[in-house]
Amino acid sequence: MNTAFDKHSMIAGQWVEGKGQTFESWDPSKNQAIATVSSCTISDIKHALAAAVDAKKVLDTKSSADIASFLQTLADEIEALKADFIPVAMAETGLPEARLQGETGRTSGQIRAFATLVAEGSWQQASIDTADAKRQPVPKPDVRAMNISLGPVAVFGASNFPFAFGTLGGDSAAALAAGNPIIVKGHPSHPLTSRYFAQAMLSALEKSGFPMGTFALLQGSGHELGSELVKHPDIKAVGFTGSLGGGRALMDIAANRDEPIPVYAEMGSINPVFIMPEALANRSDAIAQGLASSIAMGCGQFCTSPGLIVCLQSELPQLLAQYLSEQSPGTMLNPGIADAMQSALANRQSNHQVQFLTGGLSDTPLTPPASLMQIRAADFLANGEAIAEFSEEIFGPASLVVSCESVDELLNVAENLSGNLTATIHADDYQSTPLTQLLTLLKPRTGRILFNGYPTGVEVCQSMQHGGPYPASSFAHASSVGTAAINRFVSRNAYQNWPDELLPAELQNANPLGILRLVDNHYSRTAL
Ligand code: NAP
Repeated sequence: MNTAFDKHSMIAGQWVEGKGQTFESWDPSKNQAIATVSSCTISDIKHALAAAVDAKKVLDTKSSADIASFLQTLADEIEALKADFIPVAMAETGLPEARLQGETGRTSGQIRAFATLVAEGSWQQASIDTADAKRQPVPKPDVRAMNISLGPVAVFGASNFPFAFGTLGGDSAAALAAGNPIIVKGHPSHPLTSRYFAQAMLSALEKSGFPMGTFALLQGSGHELGSELVKHPDIKAVGFTGSLGGGRALMDIAANRDEPIPVYAEMGSINPVFIMPEALANRSDAIAQGLASSIAMGCGQFCTSPGLIVCLQSELPQLLAQYLSEQSPGTMLNPGIADAMQSALANRQSNHQVQFLTGGLSDTPLTPPASLMQIRAADFLANGEAIAEFSEEIFGPASLVVSCESVDELLNVAENLSGNLTATIHADDYQSTPLTQLLTLLKPRTGRILFNGYPTGVEVCQSMQHGGPYPASSFAHASSVGTAAINRFVSRNAYQNWPDELLPAELQNANPLGILRLVDNHYSRTAL
C-alpha cells in the first residue's frame, strides 16, 4: 500500500492541499512539530458538497446488502493500514501503542457492527398499518413508514480518540450506514493520522464501486472551516465530539441557518461519583484505588473521567490522593489541552475554598501529575455561580471531592448538577431510602448510571447510551456510541395508499428482505 502522501485533504477521491492558513502537526511527547499542513477553504467545502450531493443520488440506489458489504470492506481496509498509522498516531497524540491497538479494533469493530445492523434491516423501523375500508365514520387508509437517509453529514472528530471518534469513527460509521455521504472536518491535533483513514476510505470506495463523493476529509485549524461547513445549505446534520465551547458554537450556527439542522454534539462531562455511607464504611480503600486508576487513565483525557466525587467527610480523599500520587504521569494530547488544564488548576488554586490534596500547577504541563482537590459541600452549594464554577470539567487527570456533612447534603449536590454523560453510585444497601432518592435525582440528569464501578471505558453495544442532558450533549436521547447512533442521521417517509410494486422493498407485502416490521402494532417478519 502506497502511503507516501504529499497532500493532506481528500475531496471526491482526489488528494488536495488547502489554500488557507497553515498549522503544524505536533508531537506532544517530544514537544516539536512534525509537519506543516494547509487548511481547506470555502471553495473546498463547495467542491466537497457538490460531489456529496451527486453521490447521495447514487447511494440512494444502493441496497442494504451493498452498504453492509461496503462497510465490511472499509473495516478491512482500516485494519490493513494499522501498522502504518499506529506509529504516526502515537507521535501525534502521545497515546501509547497498546491503547491505539485497542482503539483500532474498536474502530473497525464498530464499523462492522453497523454493517451487521444494516444487513439485518430493523434499523429502518419499517412499520405498516393496513387499510380498513369498513372503518366508521371514515375508512382507514393504508399507511407505511420507514427511515431513510438524510443527506450529507458533517463530522467533527475529537482529539482524544484519533480513531474511534476520528475521521472514520462512530459518527462517520453511523452516518454512512444510514446511506449518507460524509464531510469530515479533520481534527487539527492529528492531521497525519487522519490521512490514513482517508486512504482506507478511498480503497473501500474503489473496491465497492461506490461514488467518490461519498467522503471528503477537509483538514483545517481555526474555527472558520468548521463554521463554514456547518453553514453550507447542503449539510443536513452534524456529528460532533469535543468541547462544550466548540459544540455550542456549532449548535448556534446550525440553529441560525435559513434551514436549521440538528447538531448531535457530545461534549464535556464531570461524571459525578456518589459514595453512599455504608459503601464508604465498608470499602473506602478499594474505592479509592479504583478511582485513582479511573482518574489517571489516558491522562484523564476521557469524556467519562470522574471529575467530581461526592461523599461524607472521611479518610477517602486522603487515600485517593495517596493512590493518585503513585500513578505515573501520562502525556497530554496537545499543548492547547495541556495549557487549558493548567489554567483551570490555577483558577482553583486561587480559590481559598479549594484544598489541593495532591498535584497542582506543574512545571511540565504536557506530562502533569494527577491533581486531587477537595471542597466542603456547603461551599460547593453556596450559590449558582459556585455550583457552575465547580461543575466545570477540567480535561486531564484532575478531580474534585465534595465533602458532605450529611446524606441530605450529598443529595443536595446531586440535585444541583447539570447534565452529565455518566453518574456512578457506590452503594451496598440497595434498600436504603437515600439511594432511592439519589436514583430519582440522577435519572433526569444523566445518560448512563453505573453501580459499584468506574465510568471510564464505554462498551460499544446496542444498549449503550453515550449522551446526556445538556451540556453533556445537545440531545439527551441521542447516543454517539453503539449502533443506536444511526438514529441520529435518518429522515423518515410515510407512504399512504401506495401500489405495492412502487413501495420500497422494506415495505412491500411480501417482505422480500425478510426484515422485522411493526405490522398493525405487532412485530413480525411474515409476509402480508
Ligand atoms: P474541540 O477543541 O472542541 O475540537 C473539536 C473539533 O471542533 C475540532 O475539529 C475543532 O477544530 C472544532 N472546533 C472547536 N471549536 C470550534 C468552533 N468554535 N467553531 C468551529 N469549529 C470548532 O475538542 P477536542 O480538543 O477534540 O477535545 C477536548 C474536549 O472534548 C474535552 O472537553 C472533552 O471532554 C471533550 N470530549 C467529549 C467526548 C464525548 O463523547 N462527549 C469525547 C471526547 C472528548 P478547530 O479548533 O480547528 O476549529
